[in-house]
Amino acid sequence: MSSDFKNNPLNDPLSNNIYLQALNSAKSGIIITDNRQQDNPIIYCNRAFEEISGYSHNEIIGHNCRFLQSQDRGQEERQIIKKAIKEGEECKVEIRNYRKNGSLFWNELIISPVKDDEDNVTHFIGVQNDITLRKKAENELREEKSSVEKKILERTKELQENHAFLSSIIETVRESLLVLDVDYRVLSANSHFLTSFKVTQEETVGKILFELGNHQWDIMLLKQLLTKILPTNNPVIDFEVEHDFPYIGKKIMLLNAYRIEFEGQYKDRILLAIEDITEKKEIDRRKDDFLSIASHELKTPLTTIKGFTQLLERMIPEGSSEKFITTLQKVSLNVDRLNNLISELLDTSKIQSGNIEIHKEPFKIDKIIHEAVDNLALASPSHNISVNSDTNATILGDELQITQVLNNLVSNAIKYSPGSSQIDVYCNRVGNFIRISVTDYGMGISQQDQKKIFERFFRVRDIQKKFPGMGIGLYICQEIIQNHEGTLWVESEIGNGSTFNFTLPIQKI
Ligand code: ADP
Repeated sequence: MSSDFKNNPLNDPLSNNIYLQALNSAKSGIIITDNRQQDNPIIYCNRAFEEISGYSHNEIIGHNCRFLQSQDRGQEERQIIKKAIKEGEECKVEIRNYRKNGSLFWNELIISPVKDDEDNVTHFIGVQNDITLRKKAENELREEKSSVEKKILERTKELQENHAFLSSIIETVRESLLVLDVDYRVLSANSHFLTSFKVTQEETVGKILFELGNHQWDIMLLKQLLTKILPTNNPVIDFEVEHDFPYIGKKIMLLNAYRIEFEGQYKDRILLAIEDITEKKEIDRRKDDFLSIASHELKTPLTTIKGFTQLLERMIPEGSSEKFITTLQKVSLNVDRLNNLISELLDTSKIQSGNIEIHKEPFKIDKIIHEAVDNLALASPSHNISVNSDTNATILGDELQITQVLNNLVSNAIKYSPGSSQIDVYCNRVGNFIRISVTDYGMGISQQDQKKIFERFFRVRDIQKKFPGMGIGLYICQEIIQNHEGTLWVESEIGNGSTFNFTLPIQKI
């Protein structure tokens, strides 16, 4: 503003009054300072300025504007104002000011110089607006923005970390993993899949699973399996598939497939895990072959030894010493034991190859229970075996095999209860079945081991060294009972003994 303040039409008192009224009705605070006087004092302020600052007209006139900043003197804006005043220029700043009661308000201040004819600055006009609310809103917006940005950064970092974590797991597992969409299109494949099936990322990702590598995955069973998963949410667990792949040959695979669940929602994605068990199967097969050959080879000379021992027993010379006779009996007993062990081994390999034969004929169950227990009781005077079997039931089955089961269960009951002498064998009718229980009060079996004792070669860890055995007796028993349409199970508590039960259907008359 470069109008002459003194030669203004405002010198006319009427106009002067009008202008003053106009200034007083303005919403912005207005002050005029006299630059020609020392320390540039305020010589005029309007009503709005009084309202904004909280000071009265009398408290304002004669003061330099700086009182508005109170003790807050370090603000950069002060330097801008100082420079503008010194150089007689206009300026606009947003500055922290304080009302009379000490409360802060943000002041948007515009300063304009008033110059005389010689271009000397005579006055400054200061126009002030209280922008506290705007500033507050701006600050809140800025804070909100920075907190949102911070949250986005944190979430992005978290996602990146999760992604890196998952990727490293997926890449490290020694199993082939594929993620498929609803059309069985491959969304991702891990490196184990690519190396195992000799394919590249480009040849795999984005392609339909069944069309991969010249349709080498076009396997009927796999197709049926996958089509079952999506609609039901039921995972497919340990599904064995054998397939002849054009490039890598015959493979036996274990497939596991899950519908992917994310935050409780099922997505139309399938995670397919493919484990190549070809080698494991081959090793198992070799082990089974070895067992079968070894037990056959051992059985032949043993049968000859058994024959000769029986011959010797029949040919004991008159007057032979007691020692000679008991030695021969011991040889015979141990040949029998060895024979039983080898027979068990042979049975397992027969079960494995599906060659176990059953010769079913009707027999009375009570009779064979009593016979089996009597024989075992003779050989184990340390134990008292009570029998309760009076069912008069007839079973259609392989008498020798059922006797084998009874022998096994009662021998185990004797073997695994060294500290207690009582064993109870009980047989009763339950509907169309008979149920046989063999109870001992010995060491018992933990819940965890109970799930495994019917597996081939499983023996409870702690007892392995103390008690002889190969861990196949129960496996054979289970097989025999299943082949007779019955079930075999155990109830046991560690330290409190075990009860092995099995059922067999009664022959209808
Ligand atoms: P083996 O007795 O030759 O080890 P089995 O197949 O008959 O093999 O039994 C498997 C395992 O089950 C045994 O090694 C033993 O740990 C456990 N077991 C079987 N019967 C009993 C029993 N009556 N009490 C405690 N443990 C038993």
